[in-house]
This record gives sequence, C-alpha cells and structure tokens, in this order.
Amino acid sequence: MSKIIIAIDGHSSCGKSTVAKALAVQLGYAYVDTGAMYRCVTLYALRKGAIKDHSFIEEEIIKLLPGIQLHFQFNPHTQSNDTYLKGENVEKEIRQMIVSENVSKISAIREVRTKMIALQREMGKNKGIVMDGRDIGTNVFPEAELKLFMTADTDIRTKRRYDELRTKGQEVSFLEIKTNLMSRDYEDSHRKENPLLQAKDAVVLDNTELNREQQLEFILNLIKNLGVSLQ
Ligand code: C5P
Repeated sequence: MSKIIIAIDGHSSCGKSTVAKALAVQLGYAYVDTGAMYRCVTLYALRKGAIKDHSFIEEEIIKLLPGIQLHFQFNPHTQSNDTYLKGENVEKEIRQMIVSENVSKISAIREVRTKMIALQREMGKNKGIVMDGRDIGTNVFPEAELKLFMTADTDIRTKRRYDELRTKGQEVSFLEIKTNLMSRDYEDSHRKENPLLQAKDAVVLDNTELNREQQLEFILNLIKNLGVSLQ
C-alpha cells in the first residue's frame, strides 16, 4: 500500500501531537494539528473583541470567518510546524490559557467547523498525512486507513501540560489546567457538531504508562500490518 491517511483523535493533552509529529517525520508525511486551527479562530475572535469575558454572539464570530487565513510553516529550530494567522506566527500565542478557555465554545459553531474541515480535507487530499484532532477519523476522513483514539489518565495529562506550559514560562496552576482539560473534554464530547467520539474502527491507545518510543513502536507495528512501506 502506498501513502495513507493517519487520523489521530482523543482527549485533550494526551500527547496526540507529540506522537503525530514523530510519526510524520518517520514516514516522511505531512503533519496537521487541527486543534491549532480552532485555536487560531479563537485568538482572532479575542483580538477583534468578539469574545468578552468568555461570552460571544455567534453571528459576530461567523462574520469574522472570511477574514481568517491560516497556514502552517516548518520551523527548522523546533523541527515542527508553526501556525500562522494572516501571515503572523502565532504558534506561542494560541497555546495561552485564555485561548484554551474559549476554544471549545468557538469550535462548536457549525460555520467555524465547516470552514476548518474544508481546509483539512484539502490538506489531506493527496494522502501521506498525519492529522490529529477530535473528529478526524469520524468526520474529516472517515475513510482514513489508520485511525487511533488516544487517551490517558487525567492527572497524568494535567502534569504533562503543566510541565510543558511552565517550561514555556507560563504562570499556570495544576488545578487551572486540570479544570480546563476536563471541561474541554466534556464540551468537545457533548457538542452537537462533530463531537469527540471514538470511531468504531479506531485502535485505542492509552498512553498513561507508555513513553514516546513505546507509543511509536505500537503505531509503527499497526502501519506495518497494513502493508504500508516504512521509509
Ligand atoms: O488539540 P487541541 O487541544 O489544541 O485543540 C483545542 C480545541 O480545538 C479542542 O479542545 C476542541 O475544542 C477543538 N478541536 C475540535 N476539533 C478538532 C481539533 C480541535 O473541535 N478536530
């Protein structure tokens, strides 16, 4: 089998992007972080004053959509893609708590999803892609050859996120992060439009007790079993 689509969905902060990036490098595939796209829309709405004190009017967000252009560009220093909003590198800003606190409500808007999903399908149309998010295997690419559903213990996920944000110099508390992860998981799983669900044909990967290498080995074995040639 030649190039395939690898869809990785799962709970917040369970290491989807770390594994997806490593996999993409190993296979020589493109990597797309779809969460970054929804974060970009949220950042743009915050900057435009369309979200105030965690509330917004849906029509105002929808009106902003035509003005949003986003793309990914490889950063040789970090060896991964940075996210650009209207030509500006916003990779750091979209990871801030204020964005995390609002993104699940913004990503639940149908028109927002329609625009992002169209972009995602365009990016994956030639296959050879690893895409992570919440609805990739269930909705964006239901025909993906390999679907993974990732999860891990909530405290472990919180600790990983806490360490990551602290390393980047963000002043956040463990409780603040845990509350945010739990509320995003709840909202993402219970929304009407493309909720976070485990696809029937997805392989579950609980990485609570697995390191990066063990996760990669697990996935590469699945890929080999599909008959895909590894570079
Ligand atoms: O992956 P990340 O945690 O950065 O995603 C941020 C948010 O974007 C999620 O909590 C979810 O609300 C939204 N999202 C989504 N569909 C995707 C990817 C992310 O709704 N495919």
